[in-house]
Amino acid sequence: MKNVSILGATGSIGTNTLAVIRHHRDKFRVLGLSAGGNMALLKAQIAEFCPAVVSVATAERAEELAQLLDFAMNVEIVYGQEGAVRVATLSGVNLVVSAMAGSLGLLPTIKAIEDGKNIALANKEILVMAGDTVTKLCREKKVRLLPIDSEHSAIYQCLKGNRKKDVRRIILTASGGPFRTTSQEAMRRMTPKEALKHPRWKMGKKVTIDSATMMNKGLEIIEAKWLFQLDFDKIAVHIHPQSIVHSLVEYRDGSVMAQLGVPDMKISIAYALSYPQRMSVPANTNLDLTREARLEFFPVDHNRFPAIALAYHAGRTGGTLPVVMNGANERAVEAFLSKRIFFGDIIPLVEEVMHAHTVLPEPTLHDIIQADCWARERMGTLIAERINQCSG
Ligand code: MG
Repeated sequence: MKNVSILGATGSIGTNTLAVIRHHRDKFRVLGLSAGGNMALLKAQIAEFCPAVVSVATAERAEELAQLLDFAMNVEIVYGQEGAVRVATLSGVNLVVSAMAGSLGLLPTIKAIEDGKNIALANKEILVMAGDTVTKLCREKKVRLLPIDSEHSAIYQCLKGNRKKDVRRIILTASGGPFRTTSQEAMRRMTPKEALKHPRWKMGKKVTIDSATMMNKGLEIIEAKWLFQLDFDKIAVHIHPQSIVHSLVEYRDGSVMAQLGVPDMKISIAYALSYPQRMSVPANTNLDLTREARLEFFPVDHNRFPAIALAYHAGRTGGTLPVVMNGANERAVEAFLSKRIFFGDIIPLVEEVMHAHTVLPEPTLHDIIQADCWARERMGTLIAERINQCSG
């Protein structure tokens, strides 16, 4: 029996994780859940999975949840950053599913690693911000970092049984998002509704917008660097609109290993939960290649998707620059979703914030958190200036 805590229980990865666990109640017990806003869904999860501790974002939410729960539900309610850390470090937990959106998950995940918990990682921002710190800590604590991101799960699987020194390069696939063939002029003014229509994957809002700008792939390049300890020149990206080939590893003899599957996150979640074994998934995951009309691959159009080059630059520069790119992007995506900036503003604004930043090499955790705050504030200022210009 594995005891599991889930950070980000009501999000897309959280609900899919619980769907997989529901299907394998004999193998997993849910001890802790943390969630941001959806109290009704959290209540239903508590009733079904009976965790010992749940954490919510704020004291008000904790109050709201307590009102919703029946007396019979014997659960401890905590909140805020401290609450999430408590869920991540509960005694008896063997595996923490780290699936909070964005940088909020950083501290709870680090605390879980310090506590020796294995991590199933969906939150790529953690490695973008603190890849060096997190992976060193994992080695020191002998903690396994199992990727849930479909591309990284694919690479993890394709590397099995091979020597890392035989790897020529890894190839991350990207669907290209909803605007792969939209004219660049039209792309600039796309609305949140249009940008949220991902052609292949059903995911949370932040990652779906990141897929439309391809910043998601940019973040995944940096995530891959740390997960697999590879130089950036060994990490390539191919556009693959069908999202069937989840990623590939090319070896020095020219052999290329790929992992294929239908685009359903439950597959990589199940693999991370049951590693090194495999288990069934509660979904139709039959891949019938005879019914796929074609599998296509294209190079990245860097004019259309400048986020990729920006991410390589941030990754290669290192220090606090990836932190700043990530923080600025999170803030810009929020502004776009609340219709304060155009779709086409997101990446140029991120670049502007990166330009204004003085990079700190080898940052401490404190430096990382400072740089993240700085980037968000700077982005906030740029957005406010932009709005004033437009209305003035
Ligand atoms: Mg991915």
